[in-house]
Amino acid sequence: MGTEPHLKFYNTLTREKVDFKPIDRENVRLYVCGPTVYDFAHIGNARPAIVFDVLFRLLRQIYGESHVTYVRNITDVDDKINARALRDHPGLPLNEAIRLVTEKTETQYRQDAIALGSLEPTVQPRATENIAQMIEIIEKLIAKGHAYQAAGEVLFDTKSMVDYGQLSKRNLDEQQAGARVAVEEHKKSPGDFVLWKLSDENEPGWESPWGRGRPGWHIECSAMSGRYLGDVFDIHGGGLDLIFPHHENEIAQSRCAHGTDVMANIWMHNGFLQVEGRKMSKSEGNFVTIYELLHTEKLGGRVWPGAVLRLAMLMTHYREPIDFSVKRLEEAERLLAKWPAADIGDATPDAAIVAALADDLNTVAAIQALHALAQAANADPSVLPTFAASAALLGLLPEKVEVDDAVVAEINRRVQARLELLKAKNFAEADKIREVLLAEGIQLKDGKDPATGERTTTWEVKR
Ligand code: AMP
Ligand code: ZN
Repeated sequence: MGTEPHLKFYNTLTREKVDFKPIDRENVRLYVCGPTVYDFAHIGNARPAIVFDVLFRLLRQIYGESHVTYVRNITDVDDKINARALRDHPGLPLNEAIRLVTEKTETQYRQDAIALGSLEPTVQPRATENIAQMIEIIEKLIAKGHAYQAAGEVLFDTKSMVDYGQLSKRNLDEQQAGARVAVEEHKKSPGDFVLWKLSDENEPGWESPWGRGRPGWHIECSAMSGRYLGDVFDIHGGGLDLIFPHHENEIAQSRCAHGTDVMANIWMHNGFLQVEGRKMSKSEGNFVTIYELLHTEKLGGRVWPGAVLRLAMLMTHYREPIDFSVKRLEEAERLLAKWPAADIGDATPDAAIVAALADDLNTVAAIQALHALAQAANADPSVLPTFAASAALLGLLPEKVEVDDAVVAEINRRVQARLELLKAKNFAEADKIREVLLAEGIQLKDGKDPATGERTTTWEVKR
């Protein structure tokens, strides 16, 4: 694998860029919080799916494909899911209705992520298939004096952990002073959070030492990361909004149950996405799902390829906020259109691009370098495989598309028409044809016939 680049990532836990050293280079371990499956994922949810896929690809490139384990969970137990099941399938028994909602949404999420060029994670565990692991952790927390039962709940006792709040840098007393939530009488401290709560007959539930009930949200990730990655692992990721309370509480549970100093060595968080300068929300009317972007004309009156959304996302560093817009998608599309389709063969990615990603996933610098490489490859075909390997490292490898004879004839007719317009010096109309073809994924390349000196045009279709 050649000389190994020096990996550095910004660690939310210490608020600085740190050197990355895997605990076990034979098995580098990454956990990212996945979706709660009650509705279509929106384009904000696409950001962690893309950003942490780039991280996964980078780690695979450096440590080897079979030496990285990436876990992204599916939260399939949640009160929002119950409400959706009742609304959408009122006639069915609740557990059947829930299964219909979660299965459909999970499948859609996985299809969305693949359409955005993201690899399938190594494991995509479901919360409902890890209830026994959650119960086990809660039992440990009770035994060690970190959890207590009150009013039909098992709660984590935040005061029992001396350094609770390290990730979000919140101090418990500050939180209490500023708390606007009504004091819940059964809690020892207002920041205590639910590990387990009893379910009534109309709610989904599992048998436990504390009665039939269901888990709180945070305990799910402690259980699934512990099961697949161990008590301490390398990197934990998610969006900025998850730092508090979700990740803070995952840390509290895992560290107190396992008696460890950290849960994960590095915590990475992607910034938020806004749409046309405003927070995306249903009431603002600027809420766009990944599905709508890829398959309907909701944004800018047209469908957008997954690769365009992916590039648009990676044109901003993952920790910065993104202001999402049609303009931005168009910019990404223009850039992609200039990149050649090519086969990797046995080429490896360009060192400058690996180095850019190794520096806290600097995709902005990586894309600049990739674009320069694309220009080099357009001029010199021997560069094509390196370009292809580098584009693949970002999940942005343009693919050649085979088209049938009728389509070939139609494209040739339009290419010929453009050549006639150029001859007549009608450049505006000629450019129009080129642009329309480009929007259809058809890329033109002008040249000269060496014998006659006449202008010639070749073309290819890309994904
Ligand atoms: P949720 O289903 O809301 O728990 O979100 C799933 C993932 O998407 C989490 O990692 C969130 O932090 C992330 N996320 C949600 N909204 C946005 C947004 N507008 N921009 C970026 N990431 C987001
Ligand atoms: Zn989580």
